[in-house]
Amino acid sequence: MSKTIILSNRLPLQINITKEKLQVTPSVGGLATGLKSFHREGDSIWIGWSGLTEEEIPVNLKAEIKVRAREDACITVSFTAEEMDGFYYGFSNRSIWPLFHYFTEYTEWESWQWEMYKKVNQKYADSVIEHYEEGDKIWVHDYQLLLVPNMIREQRPNATIGFFNHIPFPSYEVFRTMPWREEILNGMLGADLIGFHTYDYERHFLSSVRRILRRPVEFNEVTLANRVVKVDSFPMGIDYEKFEQTALKHHEISEDQETELQQRLNFHRKKSPDSQLILSIDRLDYTKGIANRIRAFEYFLEKYPEYIGKVRLVMLAVPSRSDVPQYQLLKKEIDELVGRINGKFATVSWIPIWYFFRSMPFENLIDLYTSCNIALLTPIRDGMNLVAKEYIATRTNQTGVLILSEMAGASHEMNEALIINPNNFEQIADAILQAIKMPKEEQIRRNTLLQKRLKRYNVVRWATDFMKALDKTKENQPSFK
Ligand code: UDP
Repeated sequence: MSKTIILSNRLPLQINITKEKLQVTPSVGGLATGLKSFHREGDSIWIGWSGLTEEEIPVNLKAEIKVRAREDACITVSFTAEEMDGFYYGFSNRSIWPLFHYFTEYTEWESWQWEMYKKVNQKYADSVIEHYEEGDKIWVHDYQLLLVPNMIREQRPNATIGFFNHIPFPSYEVFRTMPWREEILNGMLGADLIGFHTYDYERHFLSSVRRILRRPVEFNEVTLANRVVKVDSFPMGIDYEKFEQTALKHHEISEDQETELQQRLNFHRKKSPDSQLILSIDRLDYTKGIANRIRAFEYFLEKYPEYIGKVRLVMLAVPSRSDVPQYQLLKKEIDELVGRINGKFATVSWIPIWYFFRSMPFENLIDLYTSCNIALLTPIRDGMNLVAKEYIATRTNQTGVLILSEMAGASHEMNEALIINPNNFEQIADAILQAIKMPKEEQIRRNTLLQKRLKRYNVVRWATDFMKALDKTKENQPSFK
């Protein structure tokens, strides 16, 4: 029977070794969280990196890791620390990530990192070939593996290959600055179907293909010598039911079984019932607009001082890529901003920003989502932003206001949120005020529409739609018939 081979940089599990023993935990991040439920239900294998370099795995545990991963239908690909340095911390995160998010001033173009990127992409492609059987479908994910589709195609010309890009695709004028732009585009075009979160990313990609490769593009199809590549948008959804059901159960938990965080949140709400909690959750990344958000919150307190002592920003920043210098600088900037603003506005019984720099277990995320009446998400650029969707899914009584940046892919499907420009502090401050004052009926009206949409286009629907479109593209391939 044919199977689906999912390929992503990381496996949906994190393997750690403590005292010569394996510890396996689910990994954090949009893709892992999103595809996990699809992977569990389907007939598929998932190929990716375990999170440990070859140097970190003792010889006697190598086989055990493979066996343990296989129990979850996962296949590990292994890399040396040097390969990971060049491929992941290097080219993926210092070249592609900033470029595709329009942070051109942060891009680095190191040819040794590019060489490592190619080498590691080849290793992933080789692993696919090793497990591929005629009739299998291959689904490659994200910006770390842009060259893989064509590397597979070269060895298996008839294979059915889908590629999904989880981050934005920048406009031609930005993309063209990449020194290896032809190779990247040709790598992606190895797929039969290329998916993006939004129509804009799709358009930008097609425009680069037309202008850089001079390939004929008609509507959303690129014609190559012997194949046609289809490009389309598939906005990724969430495991809606999981968030909704957990939130429903969460409301029934007795007080003595609540988490410590929930007890603290309750204490705060009881102490000042008319106060408001504004939630912000992201990885600590310069694309997420965290510093701007804090400054906009400061501006809100200055513009509307009657809310000093009443409104609190609950900010969870999850540590990320801390060996890249820009992330270290950002951490410093945010620590200082939070310190300065808390110092400036705090009273004896209130501080304006509650700041957590860590990752939180799922139950604590639900505590935060369900306890905060407002969510403020202000990325400068974000492929999708699943947090926005998760927040809405957990608002089971339909109250709550989402303030969302227009630069997040999610904003295209979430028009009922208060949509803001993350660089416009005036607008953000006014949106916070509007959120605080929004009548319950209006909140319910907006969230009912949002929930209906998110429930329908959940992550399973997203994966199914993509796979169906992949089948259809393959059926229509002129060379395949
Ligand atoms: N998340 C998590 N632990 C945390 C904070 C967040 O697992 O402590 C999850 C969150 O539920 C969401 C994902 O991380 O599913 C973040 O996805 P998003 O698309 O918002 O941003 P990304 O990190 O992929 O850029």
